[in-house]
Amino acid sequence: MSISAIVQDVYEEMRPHFGEGKVADYIPALARVPLDKFGIAVVTTDGETAFAGDALEPFSIQSVSKVFTLTLALGRVGSGLWKRVGREPSGDPFNSIVQLEHEHGIPRNPFINAGAIVTADVLLAGHQPRETLGEILQFMRYISQDDTVYMDEDVARSEQATGFRNAALANYMRGYGNITNPVEKTLGVYFHQCSIAMSCLQLAWAGQFLANGGKLPGNGPRIVSAERARRINALMLTCGHYDASGDFAFRVGLPGKSGVGGGIMAVAPGKASIAVWSPGLNEIGNSAAGTRALELFAKKTGWSVFG
Ligand code: GLN
Repeated sequence: MSISAIVQDVYEEMRPHFGEGKVADYIPALARVPLDKFGIAVVTTDGETAFAGDALEPFSIQSVSKVFTLTLALGRVGSGLWKRVGREPSGDPFNSIVQLEHEHGIPRNPFINAGAIVTADVLLAGHQPRETLGEILQFMRYISQDDTVYMDEDVARSEQATGFRNAALANYMRGYGNITNPVEKTLGVYFHQCSIAMSCLQLAWAGQFLANGGKLPGNGPRIVSAERARRINALMLTCGHYDASGDFAFRVGLPGKSGVGGGIMAVAPGKASIAVWSPGLNEIGNSAAGTRALELFAKKTGWSVFG
C-alpha cells in the first residue's frame, strides 16, 4: 500500500475522533482554535509527500519548537549544553518546578519548559532577542524549505501576559545562575519560538533532517551530523511527551515531540517524518487525536524503532 493511501486511510478512520480532548485554554490565543481541526502530513526521505485534512493550515507549534532550538543550541555550544540541561525523562508535567530545587536549577531535559528556557538562554547569549528570533525563524524556513513560516505575535503576546509559571521557572533558575540573560529577554525568546505557526506539511518537512541521517531529503544539504540526529531522536523518544513519553513509545514506537497547540512531529528514521495536528489535548497536555492517529499510522506502516 502506498504512503498516500495509508495517510488517506488514517484520515478516514480518525473521523470519529476529531474534536477529542480539550484545547489549551491557559494560553488565551490558543483557546480560540476550533477543536475539530485535524491534519496529517508525511514526507519520506526521498522527498515524496502525502497529506490529508487540515494539513496545509498553520497552527501554533508551541513545544515542538524545542526540538529545533535544541538543534541550534547544540550547533552553538556542542556538548557544553549538557552542563546546563540534563538528558533524563522527568516523569513530571511540562511546566513542573518540583525537581529544580533538588537538582540545583539544572532541568532534567531540554523538552520540559525549564530545559527549553535554558536552551533559549544559550541561543540569546551575546545577541539581542531580535537577532536570536531571526536566527530561529531563518532556520525553520530553511529546513521546511518554505519562507512563509512566521511567528504569531498575538500568540507570543498572549503567553507573555499569562506565562507566570514560565516566569517562575526562569527566575528560579536565574537564582542558581543557570539563566545568564535578563529573565524577560530569555522568556521573550522562548515565548516567540513557541508562537511559530506552521502547517503539518511544513512541520513534516522540518523534521526531515532527523529522519534522513541529518540531511534534507535525498542527498540534500547536511543540517547536523548523523550522530547528532540520532541523539536528538533519542531525546524525543525518552522525553518528547513529558510524563507520557513511555506511553507514546509504547503506543507509537517512534520518536516524537508534542506541543500544546495540538501538533506532534514524529520521526521514522530512514523512512519519513510525520506531522499531525488536532488541537484537543489529553490530561497530560499532548494531542489526543494526534497521538491516536500516529498510533494508527505506525500500525499500518509497521514502522517502529523497536524492530
Ligand atoms: N508555550 C507553552 C508553555 O510554555 C509550551 C508548552 C507545551 O507546548 N507543552 O506553556
